[in-house]
Amino acid sequence: MIERPGNDAALAALRAALGAERVLTEPAVLEIYAGDDGPGRCPPRAVVFPRSHEEVAALVRAAHGARLPLVARGAGSGNVGGALPTPGSVVVSFECMQRILEFDPADRLMRVETGVITAEIERLARSQGLFYPPDPGSAPYCRIGGNLAMNAAGPRALKYGVTRDYVLGLRAVGGDGRTLVSGCRTSKGVVGYDLTRLLVGSEGTLALITEATLRLLPAPAAVGTLRVCYDATAQACRAVQRVMAQPIIPCALEFMDAHALAAIQRAGGAIDLPAATRAMLMVEADGEAAQVAAHLQSLRQALEGPGLVEIKQAMAADEVARLWSARRALSGAVKALAPLKINEDIVVPVSRLPELMARIEALAERYRLPIVSFGHAGNGNLHVNIMAHPERAGEMARAEACLRALFETVLELGGTLSGEHGIGAAKRAFVPLEIPADTLALMRAIKRAFDPHGILNPGKMFPDEISD
Ligand SMILES: Cc1cc2nc3c(=O)[nH]c(=O)nc-3n(C[C@H](O)[C@H](O)[C@H](O)COP(=O)(O)OP(=O)(O)OC[C@H]3O[C@@H](n4cnc5c(N)ncnc54)[C@H](O)[C@@H]3O)c2cc1C
Repeated sequence: MIERPGNDAALAALRAALGAERVLTEPAVLEIYAGDDGPGRCPPRAVVFPRSHEEVAALVRAAHGARLPLVARGAGSGNVGGALPTPGSVVVSFECMQRILEFDPADRLMRVETGVITAEIERLARSQGLFYPPDPGSAPYCRIGGNLAMNAAGPRALKYGVTRDYVLGLRAVGGDGRTLVSGCRTSKGVVGYDLTRLLVGSEGTLALITEATLRLLPAPAAVGTLRVCYDATAQACRAVQRVMAQPIIPCALEFMDAHALAAIQRAGGAIDLPAATRAMLMVEADGEAAQVAAHLQSLRQALEGPGLVEIKQAMAADEVARLWSARRALSGAVKALAPLKINEDIVVPVSRLPELMARIEALAERYRLPIVSFGHAGNGNLHVNIMAHPERAGEMARAEACLRALFETVLELGGTLSGEHGIGAAKRAFVPLEIPADTLALMRAIKRAFDPHGILNPGKMFPDEISD
C-alpha cells in the first residue's frame, strides 16, 4: 500500500533524515514542483533537497518504511510527465547535488553528482580538449540525472550515440534504501549483469541515481554545416536515405517539414528560404579541419538529387550558428501554433521515412488537425507534434484518436514509440502496443526487485496492473 496524504509521521521521518530546512511544504514551493514541461500538474506533498548520496539513501529508507511515494526531479524539462508528482508524493530534487567529483582527462572520464547541469559537463570537458557527446536541446538547463533517467539524446546521437553509450558506471539508491553500484571506471568491463544499461532509461522507477562516471571523447577540431532545401517532403526523406547509405556519418542530420518552416516564419524567425522550399535538412560533419571539407563534399553528392532547391554551406562558427538558428527556434515557434502540443518522438527505420511522412499527412487530413514534424531524421527519430485546441468541441477526441493511429502506424513500419523523450505518465497506456505481455511481466518483476513497495515514481512508464 502506498502512503496517502495526511500521515505526518512520514514527513517527520524525512525531516529526521535531512533536517527540517530541506523538507519544504509551503504551497508556493509545491506549485513550482507540480509538473514538468508536459501538460499535467499535481502539487506534491513536499519537496526535499538532499545534498549527498548518504542523504538520498537515508531519505529513501525513511520513505520505504512509511510507504511514501518519491518522484525524482532534475530540472523538470522532460515533456512526458516523468517528473510529474502523483497525489501524496514527495519530490526529490537533485538541485543541491551539483559537485564534479572527479575529472580525469587521461582516463577520459568525469564523475559527477547527478544534479549537475548537462552543459556544465560539456563546458568542463571542452576546457581540456575533450567533449561529452550527448546534446539534448535542453542541455543549458537540464540535469545529468534527468538525462540518465530518460537516456536523453540530441542531433549528435547519429554519429556518437545516446547518453547510455557514455556511462561507465553509476551509484544509486534502490527503492528500499540500499546502495547500488554498477559498472567500473575502465572502458572495458564485463563482471556481472549490466545494471548500468538497465538503470539508464529507467525513468526514476528503479533507483535514484546519485553519481555517474561519464566517458568523454577527444573534441573534434572543426565542424561544417549544410542547409539543404527540397521542393517536397518525400524528396528530403529520400536524400536522408542516400546520405545514410554512403560511408560518411554526419554528426547531425536534421529534418524540418513545411509546417515547421512556416511556424518559424510566423514566429518571426530569421530564416531566408527559396520560395519553392517545402522541406529542409541540416547536415553537419565534424573532425579535423581538412577532413571536414572532404566529408561535406561527399555529403553534398549524396544530398544532390531530385527536388533539390538549394544547398548552403557554412564553416565559420558564426555562419554555422546562423544556419542552425531556424532549428533552434523551432520548439517555441511550434508551441505558439495552438494551446496544446501533443509532442511525440517516434522512430522508424530510415528506409521507411518517406512512407511515414506520407501517412502523417494523411492522418492530419483525416483527423483535421495540424501536424508539425521535425527532428533527427538520420536516426529515423521525428518529433511529431499534433496541435490541438482543447476548448473546441470534439477536437480532443480527434487528437487522441490521431495519436493512437500515429503509434499504430509507427509500429507497423517497424519503429518504436519513443526515441529519447521516454514514456513517463503521458504514454504509458500505449506501452502494451509495443512490448509483449510476457516481457512486460518480466519488467514488472525487475521493478519489484529494485523497489519492493513500489514507492519510486509510481504511475510512470507502464500502465496500471489490472488485478483479478
Ligand atoms: C526545449 C526542450 C528541448 C528538449 N530537447 C531534448 C532533446 O534534444 N533530446 C532529449 O532527449 N530530450 C529533450 N528534451 C526533454 C528533456 O529535456 C530531457 O528528457 C531531459 O533529459 C530531462 O532532464 P531534466 O533534468 O529536466 O529531468 P526531469 O524532467 O526533471 O526528469 C526526467 C525524468 O528523470 C527522472 N530523474 C531525474 N533525476 C533523476 C535521478 N537523479 N535519478 C533517477 N531518476 C531521475 C525523473 O523522475 C523523470 O522521470 C527537451 C525538452 C525541452 C523543454
